[in-house]
Amino acid sequence: MKKIIVTIDGWSSCGKSTLARQLAKALHYRYIDSGAMYRAITLFFLRNRVDWTKDDEVNEALKNIELEFCPNENSGDTEIYLNGENVEYLIRDLIIAEKVSEVATIGAVRLFAVDQQRKMGKKKGIVMDGRDIGTVVFPDAELKIFMTADNAVRVERRFRELFAKNPNITIEEVKNNLEMRDYIDSHREISPLRQADDAIVLDNSNITPEQQLALALDWVKQKIQ
Ligand code: C5P
Repeated sequence: MKKIIVTIDGWSSCGKSTLARQLAKALHYRYIDSGAMYRAITLFFLRNRVDWTKDDEVNEALKNIELEFCPNENSGDTEIYLNGENVEYLIRDLIIAEKVSEVATIGAVRLFAVDQQRKMGKKKGIVMDGRDIGTVVFPDAELKIFMTADNAVRVERRFRELFAKNPNITIEEVKNNLEMRDYIDSHREISPLRQADDAIVLDNSNITPEQQLALALDWVKQKIQ
C-alpha cells in the first residue's frame, strides 16, 4: 500500500503526540516527536552550560550532539536518545519546558534538527508532530493536520501529566509555561508556528482519543486512495 507522510502541528499540549502515536501504531508507520529533539538539545545545553546567545558556543555544542529515536522494548513507543543515553523521561521536566522555546528560536539549532527530520522522512511511512512540520520540514506532505484545543483543557491535561511526576507543581506554573511557549513559538522569526494553508484543523477539546483517531484514519484513507 502507498505510504505517505503525515504531519501534525499545533499549540503546546493539545494532544499532538497522543494522536501521532495512535496513528503511527494503526498504520505501522514510524512516529517522530520533533519537539523531543529540541528538548534534548536544550538538555545538552543546560548540562554543559552552553551560552546559547553566542553563535560559536552553539555551533561547537551541536557538533557534539547525536540524537536517535529507538523503540522501547516493552511499550514499543519510540524514545529519544541523546549521545546514547535515553533521555525521554528527563526532557519532560518543567526545567526543560521553561527554556526549550528560546533554544528553538536559534537558526543553527533549527537547521540541525530540520536536516535530520527530513532524512527520517525520505522513505515516507512516517508521522511527525511539532510546530513547523507541515509548513517547513515537509511542505509537500500528503496529509497535514493542525491541532488545537481549548486553553483550559490544555492546561488541565499538561498539569495532570506533570503533577504525576512532581506533586509540588502548580496549575499557575503550567499555565504560564504554556502561554509563554505558544507566544514564542508563534512569534519567532524563523519557522513560526502557523497553520499550513492545506492543513485540516482538528479541535479535540470535546472528543475522545478514539474519536480523533477514527477521524484521522479516515483522512489518511482518503489521501492514500
Ligand atoms: O512538542 P513539544 O511541546 O515537546 O515541543 C517543545 C518545544 O520545542 C516547543 O514549545 C517549541 O518551542 C519547540 N518545537 C519547535 N519546532 C518543532 C517542535 C517543537 O520549535 N517542530
